Amino acid sequence: MTEFDFDVVVVGGGLAGLGCANRCAELGLKVALLERGPEERYHCNSRFSMGFVNCAFEYILGDPADLRRAIDRHTRSFAVPELANAFAMNAGVAVRWLEKQGVRLIKGGWQGGQRVMLAPPVPNRMGLNWTGRGGDVMVFRLGARLVERGGTLMRGVAARELVVENRRCTGVIATRGGETVRVDARAVLLADGGFQANLDLLRRFITPAPERLLQRNAKTGRGDGLLMAEAVGAQLRGTDRFYGHVQSIDAMNKPALWPYPVVDHPMCAGIAVTRAGKRFANEGLGGVFMANAIAAQEDPLGTIAVFDHRIWETAGKEGQRPANSLLEKGGATIHCSDTLQGLARLCCLPAEALSATVKAYNFAVEAGNLESLDPPRTDNPVNRAQAIMAPPFFAVPLCAGITYTMGGIAIDGQCRVEHIAGGVIEGLYAAGSTTGGHEGGPVAGYTGGLGKATTFGYHSGNCIGEALNRCTSRVA
Ligand SMILES: Cc1cc2nc3c(=O)[nH]c(=O)nc-3n(C[C@H](O)[C@H](O)[C@H](O)COP(=O)(O)OP(=O)(O)OC[C@H]3O[C@@H](n4cnc5c(N)ncnc54)[C@H](O)[C@@H]3O)c2cc1C
Repeated sequence: MTEFDFDVVVVGGGLAGLGCANRCAELGLKVALLERGPEERYHCNSRFSMGFVNCAFEYILGDPADLRRAIDRHTRSFAVPELANAFAMNAGVAVRWLEKQGVRLIKGGWQGGQRVMLAPPVPNRMGLNWTGRGGDVMVFRLGARLVERGGTLMRGVAARELVVENRRCTGVIATRGGETVRVDARAVLLADGGFQANLDLLRRFITPAPERLLQRNAKTGRGDGLLMAEAVGAQLRGTDRFYGHVQSIDAMNKPALWPYPVVDHPMCAGIAVTRAGKRFANEGLGGVFMANAIAAQEDPLGTIAVFDHRIWETAGKEGQRPANSLLEKGGATIHCSDTLQGLARLCCLPAEALSATVKAYNFAVEAGNLESLDPPRTDNPVNRAQAIMAPPFFAVPLCAGITYTMGGIAIDGQCRVEHIAGGVIEGLYAAGSTTGGHEGGPVAGYTGGLGKATTFGYHSGNCIGEALNRCTSRVA
């Protein structure tokens, strides 16, 4: 077995891991980063991202008090207060620090959540377009910066076990090719990106049929960090929710149809039904919530969005990569008929049940009492409910696209991994999408994957530095 000795070992070379590793190296610590991907341009979600860096849809460089309120508003106070505080307090300084590493940020739009974006931006096309774009350039830049600082970046090395004695973590066992590698360290950070690509964990926590979810991600988040941490007694938190979008069922086998276009807008302005022709969830809570609701169905490939011509021409055209007309261009199935009965026939739905569902929905929209529906529907300005009355009528068969898991390893405000029996596992830290407690909950509230990875990557570096007696300017 080959052995190495470092101050800090980081598992995962996405934004969270690279952020922490760079900050630790900047503080003068001897750092190794283990990345499973062997290629120079190894895949990870950070690389595939659209590049919007926000905090709960707010301008991430805005007032921390506003960010803190937005986290509570979007998660309905599900976020652990200590983590929400750390996010809000450290977000601005972390983004400024990221810029100082040579990561270029531009204004991506006028709305709060779009104001900070990695450059260069991803083009407004359907399908996945990541090479040479903001996330790709950022990961490359942070990797190069780590090496310039004397850090060790080990690609093709997969961590598989933590070394823990008496509740203190002292290193990682990993595999490099066929060889076992042991890396001893005074602090270990898990930043392996979540468990969205691990079908067993998805079945355990999220869906009865994980193979029927669309992997709307880099497929590198395999839950290794969660499993390694759980094996040494770590607490888990909020593992039942994921960030994702509602997509055409055809995205399951047509690459041009993911990650964009999504079907969120027209579906949330109209309704989604099961094969029985009945609504099953609150469309008013938005696309992320509905993707979770679809995933929770016995058959996640058995739901259909139903809307009319007016919705298709309004909500269908919303967003930078609109469903109308990109779904058609990408070859997605769109059923269309002048009558609801005809539409039901085209998508094999029971016509009477569909007509009754639409009638009840239209009645509630007209009467302004959407809450009386079964299941109740929230009306909100972002996902405004519109009656389904103007022919032709449309139906789009759906699937749930999973981007990253919102829950995972429980950490405290200093990124230390919590033990199931209370307290923390000394020397063990986690950051980014592998952690839980920031987002999710009953409405699958989103607080931002890149914002979280930027902030907690940097913040965990400061916390580790402080624990190893390095001078930091840590906020809160
Ligand atoms: C299509 C798409 C669009 C997105 N757009 C946005 C956006 O606009 N705004 C936003 O906020 N978020 C967005 N996200 C989400 C965001 O990209 C992620 O939340 C964020 O990048 C996660 O960073 P991370 O460092 O935690 O994980 P990752 O970037 O996934 O990095 C984890 C790394 O760990 C490595 N790893 C895994 N297991 C091991 C192991 N056992 N040993 C060693 N290494 C391991 C992986 O190979 C990977 O490189 C998007 C994601 C996708 C897929």
